[in-house]
Amino acid sequence: MPLYRDEAIVLRTHKLGEADRIVTALTRRLGKVRVVGKGVRRTKSRFGARLEPGMHIDVQCYEGRSLDTVTQVETLDPWGEAIARDYPSWTAATAVLETCDRLTEEREPALQQYLLLAGALRSLAGREHDPVLVLDAYLLRAMAVAGWAASFHDCAKCGAAGPHRGFHVVAGGAVCPVCRPPGSAAPAPETLRLLAALLAGDWSLADASDTRHRTEGSGLTAAFLQWHLERGIRSLRMVER
Ligand SMILES: [Zn+2]
Repeated sequence: MPLYRDEAIVLRTHKLGEADRIVTALTRRLGKVRVVGKGVRRTKSRFGARLEPGMHIDVQCYEGRSLDTVTQVETLDPWGEAIARDYPSWTAATAVLETCDRLTEEREPALQQYLLLAGALRSLAGREHDPVLVLDAYLLRAMAVAGWAASFHDCAKCGAAGPHRGFHVVAGGAVCPVCRPPGSAAPAPETLRLLAALLAGDWSLADASDTRHRTEGSGLTAAFLQWHLERGIRSLRMVER
């Protein structure tokens, strides 16, 4: 039986039969995999707690005909455990995990998405920043990696140098007065600067931002994500903004 071993982050799990669980995980090298954890729902299972959403693991599996089976799993970082102790961090992590699941395909290597996911969960587990900022930074970057980079400065349509007042989700972000479609939003300039900072990883600017700009930025980020993903991200509704 062919075996493989990889570093992975658990995205979600669901029950299988009496005691087993199907685990969807994003691996560093192989991309997303669906594997069976046998007996993990028994209280004596050594695997169970390691195969929970948000856990960073080193996992060994053998390849089956349809599903692979976990044979060994070690915890690298118990991010899921640390995050579950804080409700705002947990709801943000749930939206991060669901988005990652939607943006990745089974057996398609996605190292950039893996690194973004790991960075977001590490930050949430370590309570490094406001969980909503971590979530929005993750969403903006994960969309950029998926090919949907938003523009928060120059015009998304013609490239005219910004800053611009108009913002239009379908157009791709900031829009100049010439390109500005009807129904464009006019967010505060500080909000667009915040979103640009989150995309670029400028945490000193992001951490110093006002609540109202965070709230407005979250709304724009969510609208951007919902536009690109056919079905929305359900767990985003749980996040308090
Ligand atoms: Zn333009």
